[in-house]
Amino acid sequence: MKQTLVYTPSPLMLAAAGIMITVIVATLLLLRFLPVQTSRSRIRKCPSCGSTRIDLYMGGYLGKIYSCPDCDYRGPVVLEFEIPQEATRSKSKSKSKSSASAE
Ligand SMILES: [Zn+2]
Repeated sequence: MKQTLVYTPSPLMLAAAGIMITVIVATLLLLRFLPVQTSRSRIRKCPSCGSTRIDLYMGGYLGKIYSCPDCDYRGPVVLEFEIPQEATRSKSKSKSKSSASAE
């Protein structure tokens, strides 16, 4: 019995790594080109009573069902409003992590 300690990466592993990298890059690109939801805030309204405290009751591949705590409405229909935010708020200055104490 011979035991070889030399590790040679199999072409399968190399292919898997390549696929993973491709998927990650594609995901990043997709995220970049998708409409970013952080620039807009959405408000959901209950179609029955108009409350904005609508909650997601159930969500899946077939659709979503929302529930309203104010009037016990439960259904797939909600009113959605998009509120464009001011562009002046996009700069974040609150990064207070300083890497001090390196002696
Ligand atoms: Zn309601």
